[in-house]
Amino acid sequence: MIVLKMTAFNETAYSSEMTFVDALVCKECGKRFPPGIRNACDECFAPLEVRYSIESVREIFSRKFIASGPQSIWRYWPVLPAGRFEGEKGLNPGMTPLRDCRNLAKKLGVKRLLVKDDTVNPTYSFKDRPVAVSISKIFEFGLNGAGCASTGNLAGATAAASAKYGIPCYVLIPSGTDRGKVISALAYGATVLEVNGTYDDANRLSNLIADRHSIGFVNINLRPYYVEGSKTIAMETVEQLGWDTPDSVIVPMGSGALLTAVSKGLEELKEIGLIPDSEVQICGAQPSGCSTIAAAYISGRDSIIPVEKPETVAESLAIGDPASGYEALSIIRKSGGFADAPEDSEIVEGQLLLARHEGIFAEPAGGTVIASLKRKIEDGTISNDQTVVCLITGNGLKTLRHLEDGSAGKTVSIGNSIQGLDGLFESNGRRVN
Ligand SMILES: *Cc1c(COP(=O)(O)O)cnc(C)c1O
Ligand SMILES: [Zn+2]
Repeated sequence: MIVLKMTAFNETAYSSEMTFVDALVCKECGKRFPPGIRNACDECFAPLEVRYSIESVREIFSRKFIASGPQSIWRYWPVLPAGRFEGEKGLNPGMTPLRDCRNLAKKLGVKRLLVKDDTVNPTYSFKDRPVAVSISKIFEFGLNGAGCASTGNLAGATAAASAKYGIPCYVLIPSGTDRGKVISALAYGATVLEVNGTYDDANRLSNLIADRHSIGFVNINLRPYYVEGSKTIAMETVEQLGWDTPDSVIVPMGSGALLTAVSKGLEELKEIGLIPDSEVQICGAQPSGCSTIAAAYISGRDSIIPVEKPETVAESLAIGDPASGYEALSIIRKSGGFADAPEDSEIVEGQLLLARHEGIFAEPAGGTVIASLKRKIEDGTISNDQTVVCLITGNGLKTLRHLEDGSAGKTVSIGNSIQGLDGLFESNGRRVN
């Protein structure tokens, strides 16, 4: 449990704008807490989640209300734990395209494939969503700045949002993090602390710093609020489907938090009455080099065995000790979904499939999802009459290192003349009509 001292640093930025938050509730024993800075139950140490006064939410939160809201996650503010007014001072992520991927659906053999394209958020990953919500709590709680432990994308998202709000930002990353992610966090003005160790080491140190210096670490002491931002990816998806649910959704998993958020988002929409009570199969994808939750699912185990030294090209999923692992595993099982763990070579192939058939350049996390989709269509787990949604959570441009060996293809050096090139166009050319 972490309880921080309250030290106001910007009184004037505080907004008392309303929310419908009822309480923080322990996911294990149900004990209720006031919605403060707390991320675990003091009785059983289980994580907490935000609950809303659903009766009051229901009174205003209709499809029409949502349709007339802003083009960002804040259209769902009655089920977010931060005031819309304060939140909209940030970068306003969300309402990313849900792309109908007919080429890839045909190629892989499934009726309908939709990609929720979160590569186009303000800092090019879905992490802008959870950050947008948790960062606005930093003002409400009067903390001394923002922070995070990150495998890369969260660093940029927290740094950029902090820049927009004008507050200090401290990010802890494992050494060797993708340069594109490190340099963008530096460019946004964050203090970047490179830990000589893994993500899990960065996470442990962040816990200590958060406590000692009253800093709002978005994914640590503000974690219950953080996952609320992530659930908007599921809410947007069903809204963009005309308030219909897909048969299944495939979610990339690091700590498993995004997968739990997708489930919470769908459950709340059912409870409010915005979508029918049909079951969506919630499926998780992890790289084989860091398969914690997926390995437990595949072997039918109940225990999650941490991976000490994750090794995968999908660095944003390289979390050895997944904080939301047990919950993610139980959601996958209960919903009738699957978990899968493709190899790195399949992950790169998945990235290229999406890029070459749909024009979407995802980072390896997205490749992991597409690789799992391909494997599960091939083994018959996903039948060809399904509508599948893939969450593509990060942009490929930040993670180029693993493609520099030529696995995405090689440039053709032509000197500086067209001499001798005719054959090239004849063999590669294809008439477009
Ligand atoms: C953080 C992240 C995820 C999911 O992480 P969880 O820890 O499971 O919530 C997925 N994809 C990308 C690109 C990420 O940065
Ligand atoms: Zn408890």
